[in-house]
Amino acid sequence: MSDLSALADRLGGVRAEIAQAARDASRDPDDITLIVVTKFHPASLVRSLYELGVRNVGENRHQEASDKARETADLEMTWHFIGQLQSNKARAALEYADVIHSIDRESLVSALERAWIDRQGSDPRPPVDAFIQINLTDDPGRGGINPHELEAFTTRVLQTQSLNLQGVMAVAPLNEDPAQAFERIARASATVTSLKPDARFISAGMSQDFREAISIGATHLRIGTAITGNRPVAG
Ligand SMILES: *Cc1c(COP(=O)(O)O)cnc(C)c1O
Repeated sequence: MSDLSALADRLGGVRAEIAQAARDASRDPDDITLIVVTKFHPASLVRSLYELGVRNVGENRHQEASDKARETADLEMTWHFIGQLQSNKARAALEYADVIHSIDRESLVSALERAWIDRQGSDPRPPVDAFIQINLTDDPGRGGINPHELEAFTTRVLQTQSLNLQGVMAVAPLNEDPAQAFERIARASATVTSLKPDARFISAGMSQDFREAISIGATHLRIGTAITGNRPVAG
């Protein structure tokens, strides 16, 4: 079987499972956006996915995302940045990122705001779609805002001109039932929509837990290995 037909099979299988999980949760599958995570894979995989109808891809490392987006600039692809973003890369990330899922601290918000305002003179662009990342663990070293700080942080994000807040994002902890962890993201989502009712989107669910994520209302799934196969070793 060719690489492309194996990829098509895995993609079709995941799409069918998403549709089934949506029906099981009495949800419309069209309300769910599948983002295929292409990290560590070459730009040629992005092209293959495009041929198969994928229009949303995700990357978690800035340099890799920047290079790949440039190599595939001829495609109408929406680029989602899903990893930790260093503040000193904020300006460069605005070059390619259509959506940033990992807004997780004040210094990053300030850096994006300054960079976005600076470039309005030369190369204006609309505000970037953004998700606030929630830390679902007790470990402050993990990315994301502590749920207790979410209300104040959301208010801060809503003061910016550069970020168009879409909702919340999280990664389920490894050592916990994902359904239980995702309950906390549903609560975080309620906090955000109390401040901005249309910021109702929830970015949650990966290869191992997207069915549970759909059942708690996830609207944006970030799925890598279940579609791409195993990742090559990091270069
Ligand atoms: C790698 C990654 C994913 C996809 O993980 P898979 O287990 O390969 O589906 C999703 N979200 C984030 C933040 C990631 O870094």
